[in-house]
Amino acid sequence: MRRHHSFRWRMAAPVLATCCLLMISPVALHAGGPLFVGGPTFGVDGQPFTWNPATMPIKYRVDGGPMSVAPSGQVVISNAQGITRVQQMLQTWQNVSTAAVSFSNAGPILPVAGFSDGDVSSAPEFAAVAGSCQSGAQSPIIFDANGRVLAELGADPLIIGFSGQCALSKSGQIISDLVLLNGAFQDGVTQPQLDANQFNEAIIHEMGHFLGLDHSQINLDLFLNALNAGQFGTCDLDDLAGLPLMFPISFCQARLDAGLPQLAPDDMAWISKLYPSTNFAKTYATISGTILSSDGQTPVQGVNVIARQLDDSATSKDESRRVAMSVVSGYRFTQNPGQTVTSNYLPCTPPGQRGCPVGGFLDDNSAGDVFGSRNSSFIGSYDIPVLAGASYTVEVESVFGAFIGGSGVGPLRLPIALPGGIPEFWHQTETSFDDPTQADPISTSPGQTIPGTDVILNGTQPTFDQFEDPGANLLRHDLVPMPREDELQQREDT
Ligand SMILES: [Zn+2]
Repeated sequence: MRRHHSFRWRMAAPVLATCCLLMISPVALHAGGPLFVGGPTFGVDGQPFTWNPATMPIKYRVDGGPMSVAPSGQVVISNAQGITRVQQMLQTWQNVSTAAVSFSNAGPILPVAGFSDGDVSSAPEFAAVAGSCQSGAQSPIIFDANGRVLAELGADPLIIGFSGQCALSKSGQIISDLVLLNGAFQDGVTQPQLDANQFNEAIIHEMGHFLGLDHSQINLDLFLNALNAGQFGTCDLDDLAGLPLMFPISFCQARLDAGLPQLAPDDMAWISKLYPSTNFAKTYATISGTILSSDGQTPVQGVNVIARQLDDSATSKDESRRVAMSVVSGYRFTQNPGQTVTSNYLPCTPPGQRGCPVGGFLDDNSAGDVFGSRNSSFIGSYDIPVLAGASYTVEVESVFGAFIGGSGVGPLRLPIALPGGIPEFWHQTETSFDDPTQADPISTSPGQTIPGTDVILNGTQPTFDQFEDPGANLLRHDLVPMPREDELQQREDT
């Protein structure tokens, strides 16, 4: 079992400029659809960590204090009301018919050393309960009724809630997890406030992380336009319908307030892919491929790939904005394969004793990150579950540069700009100099996997040079004799 300090959170949007500066995170790794992926020494290589499908329902425990308390001390949302709301929020995920997840309330949070009054209301009590979560003893849902726990932890008061996977097993399963709810957003006084649907949405998002889902980036332009205009909470319906609940930032009106289903198509597709029920293969198809640089050979990790349903011109709705699913290329591959040339430093002695690791360096990156496969075929690969029976376009774009740390999307700790800088659609005859707007539809049928939907990026830097051969080395470049001008002249003469 491995302990984690990896938290994901959801922020209120109005003060985004602040949030992004403050969002320095301990998170080690992200993945496009799933949050954690197994590597060669931990978990199942290349496979997402999930709760054990054989031991459903997932057992959680709930804080014994009120869910929200006003600054005056008056209880706004009681413990009993809070327990009911938690149950309803988890039910949102349980209701997805193509996914097999279920939950049961195992009772109050268990007392541990440092926590005995049943109500997690201070940073030391949080630390005690988080410690028991990390030992795999329980999965607590914590009511931070007035935001005091977050404040004592030094966290941004604009964090609506966060979740953290506490313990993962060597066999690839999530053992325990915790979710914290910041009740100050529901106390009717503290600014900003959220309506009940907005608050629930943020917490259901955290529960998505609880289940092993990472963030998703779809309809990013909706967010960028809102950010530029400084206008939050008034999102276009087509765009909002396709905006994943697992988008890193909360900035629109609540989906339920807009008359939309609680979960977006991307959320339902990925929870179903991680926990497929018997309906999954009857409902979904998979579009897969590899993102390649302009040489058509070098795989590229960290590119956001979106499959969008073709717009149906017979409806007034724009299905291409409403029905979209995504993942980040290379999500199964590690963000850090490890190397010894520059990343072993702070030598110590004797190795393996007195706090000196066996490698003989205090900082030793030779093994790299414990998460993610080293199978090179995964470096640029992607696979996206899509609702079968419709046709889709596939497009690539950068992960937004400010989505880092607890707001990260995909396998890379820091997002990269799209190599070559030219977002494009997939089409039948991909080349490095094709029209980036040409999009060929991909038809799908239930249970089908469509392989080879490879996108060759335009305009990327060359990976190979003109002297490349199997024995190439850096010195060879200097040893190639350059003909002098007079020699060239002589050759021409003869
Ligand atoms: Zn999140």
